[in-house]
Amino acid sequence: MKKNTIWSIYGGDWKGMTKAVLEAADVKSAIPKKDARVGIKPNLVLALAACNGATTHPEIAEGIIEYLREHGFENLCMLEGAWVGARTKDAADVCGYTDLSKKTGVEFIDTQPDTATAVDCGGMELKICDSALALDYMINVPVMKGHCQTRLTCALKNMKGLIPNSEKRRYHAMGLHKPIGHLALGIKQNFVLVDAVCGDLDYEEGGSPVQRDQVFGTYDPVLCDAYACTQLGYTVSDVPYIGIAETLGAGSADLSRLEEIVLAQPEKPMLKPQHRVDRLLSHVRQKDACSACCANTAYALLRLQEAGKLNRLTVPVCIGQGYREQADESALGIGRCTAGFRRSVPGCPPPAGVILRFLEENLR
Ligand code: SF4
Repeated sequence: MKKNTIWSIYGGDWKGMTKAVLEAADVKSAIPKKDARVGIKPNLVLALAACNGATTHPEIAEGIIEYLREHGFENLCMLEGAWVGARTKDAADVCGYTDLSKKTGVEFIDTQPDTATAVDCGGMELKICDSALALDYMINVPVMKGHCQTRLTCALKNMKGLIPNSEKRRYHAMGLHKPIGHLALGIKQNFVLVDAVCGDLDYEEGGSPVQRDQVFGTYDPVLCDAYACTQLGYTVSDVPYIGIAETLGAGSADLSRLEEIVLAQPEKPMLKPQHRVDRLLSHVRQKDACSACCANTAYALLRLQEAGKLNRLTVPVCIGQGYREQADESALGIGRCTAGFRRSVPGCPPPAGVILRFLEENLR
């Protein structure tokens, strides 16, 4: 098991991409026994279909179920609790998990009415749902998206769906970061399979999806969230719960040790950017641009906007396969397709953090 590896894949066949990541990471060999109780933990924060940027695509959960069954694992369940104020059943119905459970015969456990046990999580006592504690192996399937309070939500924060509602309220009273960091010691995420297909720009509840068409996986939830920071244009220090989890020994946020294995590069043109994403991308010239490049640039432009610097971006920003083999003296090029530009940032796609630094260096 390579803890410092992230397997990444881009495309439109989310189920097939999921199975490719699981195969590449050899997850089957990491599960301790054939009759292990394996839990799949999506993000069903509220009753809103995955295309809105808040919840996990059911195709990804289905890919996990198929992969596990093909390798002889039958003791499976899906488990999740919606946020306070929403009913898990409504979310499971709307997001396709009730149908998926019927279709596959895999039990869906609503953790909202579950019993819970207090667990010592690195010196902080936190209550955890018993259905989560009963698992032998957990595959966490978060959505990589923005969050209005913690900036980012991905692997570590997704574990909040496995605590009682009363505990969720208490986390907010404690400022979120500290208990989320400590919870990483109470619940073992054995593998993280991230839905980075169209996570929201900056809200947990969706509404401004940013189409990226990526799925990625890793054995280290801390590394996962550190990598997610770079994809959204943040640094690890911008999201304090990552550092807290790392200090407690839940994983490593050291991106200098990261080995990213890209199983398939982006190739799908962005079809229809939406809402605020569309407005951000009005600064961009696109010619056959992949969704991942557009999405990462949108995140970088948002970070510039938040810093009050966007109005200093006065030269055109170009993205897309249509710029291959082209030279340009004045525009800023994003990604390896613009390698012929005088000023271009490499990568396919470059992470938002790298794009942000490049744009900042080239502001008026
Ligand atoms: S660099 Fe080119 S091929 Fe790569 S993601 Fe960007 S637009 Fe697509």
